[in-house]
Amino acid sequence: MIVGAGPAGSATALGLLAAGVEQVLLVDRGSARPFAIGESATPDVAQMLGRLGLETDLGRLGHRPYHGNLSLWGDAKPQADYFLQRGHGHGWHLQRAEFDAWLLQQAVDRGARLMCPTSVKWCTRSEGVWQANLASTDGKQKRVQARMLVDAGGRRAPLATRLGAQRRRLDGLVGLATRATATPALAGMSLVEPFEHGWWYAACLPDGQAVVTLMSDIDVVRSQCLQDWHNYLSAWRTTAKVAELAPPCPPQEQDGQTLQPNIQTFAAHSSYLDRAAGQGWIAVGDALLAFDPLTSSGISGALSDAEAAVPAIVGQLAGDSIASRHYAERANRTFIRYIEGLHRQYGAEQRWPNSVFWSRRHAGPVGV
Ligand SMILES: Cc1cc2nc3c(=O)[nH]c(=O)nc-3n(C[C@H](O)[C@H](O)[C@H](O)COP(=O)(O)OP(=O)(O)OC[C@H]3O[C@@H](n4cnc5c(N)ncnc54)[C@H](O)[C@@H]3O)c2cc1C
Repeated sequence: MIVGAGPAGSATALGLLAAGVEQVLLVDRGSARPFAIGESATPDVAQMLGRLGLETDLGRLGHRPYHGNLSLWGDAKPQADYFLQRGHGHGWHLQRAEFDAWLLQQAVDRGARLMCPTSVKWCTRSEGVWQANLASTDGKQKRVQARMLVDAGGRRAPLATRLGAQRRRLDGLVGLATRATATPALAGMSLVEPFEHGWWYAACLPDGQAVVTLMSDIDVVRSQCLQDWHNYLSAWRTTAKVAELAPPCPPQEQDGQTLQPNIQTFAAHSSYLDRAAGQGWIAVGDALLAFDPLTSSGISGALSDAEAAVPAIVGQLAGDSIASRHYAERANRTFIRYIEGLHRQYGAEQRWPNSVFWSRRHAGPVGV
């Protein structure tokens, strides 16, 4: 039973079905968000989809090529970094909700059973078998049995934390995201621009709009009132490149009133689980290790965890926990590499030494 049908959960289901596991149940509580975030898929994502036997030309599914990044990191002058120059093909700018729904549909088409909107009320294990009580939003309850549980439930790791694992959070990063006008100069690129209280991010979406996100710590957002549309807009307007390449959409009118644009807040803190797997369970994707969106590696990390988790799950089903130990060691190595890389990257921006946001990043990760 896999809890969470995002990229990590769907890819784990696909990998297990391909490995011959016949009964795979995906349980998801469903999302009430008006739009999904996380549209930039790095070039390795298509290769991982290919290894699952899926379409690798995501252009056929309506997504758009993503060629590289424009960045004003550490310098007021924009630098362009193209994947091709690093010897990779291009990545994809995704219509994210559609990508996730497509991946899930692939798992269902290949035999996974889906229960959504449904969440797990409780689960207990006896003699190697989990009993779980599931509840759908219309109040119906169902009891299921499973031999392995997979936590693919995102940053909160809803299952693993229930089973006693601890979630460690390294910072208070949040993303305040809204839609913007996409200019032709932004096509195929993602843009990152630091400012005193964090950094801005912009990218073109396949529907022709852009997504613009202000990234900062939740307490800084509150102290600077950055959730307030006027402050958000004035910070946006003072950017050097974001306002030029992804300017605010023209105000919408309804019944003679100007509508306030929708700003959605997303948790974006780095966090990790103190155990990658236990007896009869394993964690994948954000549930295991949630990356700072600066790395744009959440989707590839989720797919890569799924790939690595399949032998560990199959091993546990056969009564062998060695592959689970290897999986846990891999998670430790990934975490150490991630922390070192993140520290290096934030260290390369030194223009606001007195800012709370930047001085925290320069002091190094907390909670490790
Ligand atoms: C602001 C922001 C920008 C980002 N930008 C990018 C980007 O450009 N590129 C990139 O690669 N990554 C990006 N990411 C990260 C990326 O979106 C995630 O890493 C990725 O979605 C992780 O996939 P997942 O399947 O592990 O988790 P999720 O996508 O979070 O999926 C978890 C699933 O579990 C379900 N669920 C949660 N709790 C329960 C429960 N209790 N019971 C049942 N179901 C449950 C949810 O409904 C959801 O479907 C970004 C993240 C943020 C916050």
